[in-house]
Amino acid sequence: MAAPASLRVTNARLHPTPEHGLKTYDLLVEGDRITSLAEAGSRPARIPADVREIDAQGRFLSPPLVDPHVHLDIALTVGQPRHNATGTLIEAIQIWSELKPSLTVDEVKARALEVIRWEVAQGTGFIRSHVDVCDPNLTAVRALSELRREVKEDGVLSFPQGKELMREAMRLGCEVVGGIPHYEWTREDGIEEVRFIFDLAQELGAPVDLHCDETDDEQSRFLEHVAAHTMRRGMQGRVVAGHTTAMASYNDNYAFKLIQILRRAGVTIVANPLDNIVLQGRFDTYPKRRGVTRVKELDAAGINVACGHDSVMDPCYPLGRGSMIDALSMLVHVAQMTGRDELFRAYEMVSCNPARGAGRPASIEEGACASFVIFDCDDEVDAIRLRPPALAVVREGRVVARTEPARTRIFRQDREEPVTFTPAHSERPHHQHQGGNPN
Ligand SMILES: [Zn+2]
Repeated sequence: MAAPASLRVTNARLHPTPEHGLKTYDLLVEGDRITSLAEAGSRPARIPADVREIDAQGRFLSPPLVDPHVHLDIALTVGQPRHNATGTLIEAIQIWSELKPSLTVDEVKARALEVIRWEVAQGTGFIRSHVDVCDPNLTAVRALSELRREVKEDGVLSFPQGKELMREAMRLGCEVVGGIPHYEWTREDGIEEVRFIFDLAQELGAPVDLHCDETDDEQSRFLEHVAAHTMRRGMQGRVVAGHTTAMASYNDNYAFKLIQILRRAGVTIVANPLDNIVLQGRFDTYPKRRGVTRVKELDAAGINVACGHDSVMDPCYPLGRGSMIDALSMLVHVAQMTGRDELFRAYEMVSCNPARGAGRPASIEEGACASFVIFDCDDEVDAIRLRPPALAVVREGRVVARTEPARTRIFRQDREEPVTFTPAHSERPHHQHQGGNPN
């Protein structure tokens, strides 16, 4: 494959902006690497003749966003074969089981690819997809393996030949072992499932990423088994648990103990606030629980916390457009992370934290892989507030997506005025109004 042409990005504000302040930077990308990173205009970089230029005009340059938890096999099936009238998880699972027998490899691939296109266009550089293995034909596994990635829905033990299907799925190209212990018929089966997942992961040398305790039942406590297996088997840093919404209903005493062992085990927790804010608390009247895991407390305890999109237009969640910034916006609201520092910490949950959880840390520095996004906004907080378009998405040195920002005007007293959604007093490094178009 031919090496990508070189690329020069000028006048970009850099993540993390609390560290870099209002300074802007110039980056030179050669091949798939960042070969120079210096304060804007401070050092005339050696510029290759064929360089492609992007003037960021003071906009925010971020590491690629990461979606650590999405279900590409079920994405975009909303309305097939029918819509979810109650909006509950129980009806969603019923609808999915009605659709599953009619899946074909080509159709699953087409839907998954469409969602990948949406995510990439909005700045996502890495996606980890779960896939349902409870289908005797493993149609979705075959489809996503051709496209790529990971595992699981329905209890492994409670589904006929669940264990054999898991092994077959791994043979077909899944890279990570998943599971869903709280869907087993009994608590004991759930504990046995967790053991099986870790046995299989150890046998194959694969990491683990399972759905865990996605319920409002405060008796659902499989996460402690996940943490214990992680420590006993020396798998610290290679285990991810998704949802863990029951934690929102645990008593504080038990939650405290659990958080201590999760930290020792180095388990990454992935919250999925778009789905869980609508699916959890569904059996409650009032007061109604939020049902999203203890994001703020886990983060404060030093646990690696990330945020996933989870569903995109499927029976569980009929909305969504594959935007990690949308998921982050919901997370910030539901987890009440609107303190100044908390907003910046939350941004890490869709960028650096999930990258670390998947064993793919990313950074913007000389010598690092040239993968990044330029958002049409000033910084991390503005990214959450404005949910701006990704002006340019660069992957391994190549521009893989561009978006032209919208221009908004109002007409007042016979005049046309731009609307920027940014207050006039804001300290923009380059006073360009929203809707400017870095070429
Ligand atoms: Zn999920």
